[in-house]
Amino acid sequence: MQPHQFYRDAYQTDLTSSVVSADENRLVLSDTLFYPHGGGQPGDTGYLTVNGQTIEIVDTRYSKDRSRIEHHLADALVLDIGTPVTVTLNWARRYRHMRMHTCLHLLCHIIKDPVTGGNVGADLSRAEFDLTSPLDKQELEDQLNAIIQQGADVTTEWLPESILDERPDLVRTMSVQPPRGHGDIRMVRIAGLDYQPCGGTHLKNISEVGQVRVPSIKSKGKQNKRINIELVD
Ligand SMILES: [Zn+2]
Repeated sequence: MQPHQFYRDAYQTDLTSSVVSADENRLVLSDTLFYPHGGGQPGDTGYLTVNGQTIEIVDTRYSKDRSRIEHHLADALVLDIGTPVTVTLNWARRYRHMRMHTCLHLLCHIIKDPVTGGNVGADLSRAEFDLTSPLDKQELEDQLNAIIQQGADVTTEWLPESILDERPDLVRTMSVQPPRGHGDIRMVRIAGLDYQPCGGTHLKNISEVGQVRVPSIKSKGKQNKRINIELVD
């Protein structure tokens, strides 16, 4: 499987590509840098430029069978197959998703308990754990900010998906197993801190997360706690 452009370079903001199919307001392109909603990370937004016209892209999702990435347009559009188009990311929003997503992986480093869920948002992100010992939000916030300040490189690699049978411990999120059937699985490594399968878009270095806040830790069950994360700026 040829990785999409958002995997080759998560920092690229514009891409010229061509129309594969245009079904009313669902547009499929030959390649894209728009991340499709999945793995707890929202679909990208931005805009499309075609024939001198600009159309808003309000969401990006996989098709039902997950074989295609569909850009959801604000307006229905008739386009011939092969028409060249340029897509431009709402980079400010996506970059916040990258900072938040990488930060959630740092939580997995600090808290070794089972992860039961997680969700990335530009303004608020959350991760849920079945905690085996109590957690203080101020202590956690201080720990997170200290690690972020130290910095660490984030790299990705593709491994044969049989790695998941050999090393089931690599999967941190119990509720969401990585998608299988493509032959390869994408691994995200934060040098010396975290290594797990993940399909999200990440920073090059954790120092880019910047200062974070832990506004609350909410109880979702006897052991299950939800940790909320905000970016300070
Ligand atoms: Zn992830």
